[in-house]
Amino acid sequence: MSIADSVLTELLGQHPELRPHLYFKSSLTALSRAMEDLVLAGDEQPLVIATFQEERLYRQESHRYQRIASQSDRIYVLAVMDDKPPVTEYNLIPLKATDKLAQQWNLVVIGSQSAACLICQEREGDWVNTGLESSQRFDGIWTFDRHVALDAAEILLAKVAKQRPKLKKETQQILTELREPQFEALPTSADAFVQRLVTYLQAGQYKLIKAYRSIAAQENRERLVNLIASALRRSLKPDEILNIAVQEIGAAMQASRCLIYRYQSGETATKIAYEYVGQPGYSSLLGKLWNLDQHPLLSEIVETHTPSTMTAIDSLSPTTADLIAKYQISNILMVPVLSQDRLLGIVELHHCESTNYQWLPEEISLVEAVATHVGSALMQAEAYTHLEYLNEQMAVLDRIRGNLVAITGHELRTPLSTIQICLESLSSEPDMSLDMRQVMLNTALTDSERMRKLIQDFLTLSQLESGRFQWHPENLSLRECVDLAVSGMKNQRRDMPKRDKPQVIIDIDPDLPAVNLDGEWLVEVLSKLLDNAYKFTSHKGQITIQAVSHNIMLEVIVSDNGRGIEPNLLQVVFERFYQEEGALRRTTGGTGLGLAICQQAVLSWGGQIWAASDGKDQGSKFHFTIPLLPVPEKELQGIS
Ligand code: ADP
Repeated sequence: MSIADSVLTELLGQHPELRPHLYFKSSLTALSRAMEDLVLAGDEQPLVIATFQEERLYRQESHRYQRIASQSDRIYVLAVMDDKPPVTEYNLIPLKATDKLAQQWNLVVIGSQSAACLICQEREGDWVNTGLESSQRFDGIWTFDRHVALDAAEILLAKVAKQRPKLKKETQQILTELREPQFEALPTSADAFVQRLVTYLQAGQYKLIKAYRSIAAQENRERLVNLIASALRRSLKPDEILNIAVQEIGAAMQASRCLIYRYQSGETATKIAYEYVGQPGYSSLLGKLWNLDQHPLLSEIVETHTPSTMTAIDSLSPTTADLIAKYQISNILMVPVLSQDRLLGIVELHHCESTNYQWLPEEISLVEAVATHVGSALMQAEAYTHLEYLNEQMAVLDRIRGNLVAITGHELRTPLSTIQICLESLSSEPDMSLDMRQVMLNTALTDSERMRKLIQDFLTLSQLESGRFQWHPENLSLRECVDLAVSGMKNQRRDMPKRDKPQVIIDIDPDLPAVNLDGEWLVEVLSKLLDNAYKFTSHKGQITIQAVSHNIMLEVIVSDNGRGIEPNLLQVVFERFYQEEGALRRTTGGTGLGLAICQQAVLSWGGQIWAASDGKDQGSKFHFTIPLLPVPEKELQGIS
């Protein structure tokens, strides 16, 4: 305690038995208010002397002193004033900021029923800057001891008289009265004071708890927002970010369920891919369709782009209420995920138990803050998907370019030069015999037909490889498709004598399960395999088509007992333009793209294709699989 002539130092000089204690500013405020309230609640006219460190602090309490002044005319307030002091009904004595009282907190109340004093001074050199003014520290005493209070009043009244000499007489008169033995001997009851003090302390505590809660909420908010923001910076995988976001928001809000989903204008349902479930008891929506057209809050969000909450399920239409009840939802908070005012998605939180849960504004603003980052993640996702798509397209273009180089380099040049030679001979040799002319024309026509087929197959393969092929799946009977392919094959060779054609055997159980495929393509694959079998099997040979059901798929086998394939070529035959005898020596026709097309088609519908053969002249078997229709599930119902 370094203030040499403070009220406290003087008082302690007179009362060495007193032990000063440490007080925080918040405690002094509570004690002072309790003392002042006691005056206001009482019916006597006590002496009240108070000092204020700053004008600001005085202004906060001035109205209380106005009220106290209506009860007693013995009120003395000493306050540091920056401006002109206001006119008051009590004695307001302005102090300079340099006055020693500016570092003290003093309050003395002396009446006939009660007497109390609070005499403190700032603790110097012990300042802990916590940023909270209420943590400012003081040394001092407070007591109900009438003698001590009287001595403190004497010290303070002397200061009043010193500051304003014309009050000297008045203050001496008060002191004489107070010092009368019968007054000094009056008992003091502390009960009422203690009750008031407890109320103030509780109020102070409540304010502190509120402050700590808001600090904790702020901290929580910053932690969550930082976490999402740093996940966003770290990862290029939007899936990962959205998963983190949904889990963190759900847990931070202690929600029963949290969903994050994308939204596109006019969408009626969305598949839930990101979900947090608070307790195992609440049903999960993960992987299910969430019906947006029946959602009670969606239209509001779409229109206003601001968060929306719903608690009054009773006011919903019976259908919607039923849907909400199915997922035990008692309460919804929906926050839009925006990017430049474009609605990209939605963060949706559910409470499933407490029907009267009210979403606090800070909870809503926390979800909004996180939703902003989710918006960036979704934008990143969009850009990422776009980039991936562009990459795929680049790869497709590259493959097409590769095909094009190959086809123009080798495959098209050969028939084109043949056609050219034939046409040149026809035009330059008018004396050519008619038979020879016919041969020339036939050769040119055959090669131009080959070129047409080649270009057609090339385009088909390019389309399949680009993944942009339009499939039209339908429920089909395999047996019917095989019959179609076989009759097409026979039709093409109808001019050949029967004895020149290998025998075709169809060995397929008509009761096999239906397949869900694009029928044209199933027939196309079968036709190409049959065509090869025809081409590479002698007229005495045999072609068999079989099918075996393997529970989740059908395996189709086209086998022949023709020229066979060397084991080391069983995979090579699927490569583009592969032909065993090479394009120039080819006797069987064909483009060398048939098996490559089959492979692309089968892979596209999720099947496999492979060749088997024991080698030269041992026949060949081409197998391919078709996934069977999944057992119809009664899921994906969303909230309907
Ligand atoms: P192509 O138009 O030449 O038939 P494919 O891609 O259909 O082109 O077949 C590629 C090559 O695979 C054929 O040229 C042939 O060498 C071989 N191949 C295909 N099917 C059979 C088969 N059933 N028996 C023997 N070899 C075959």
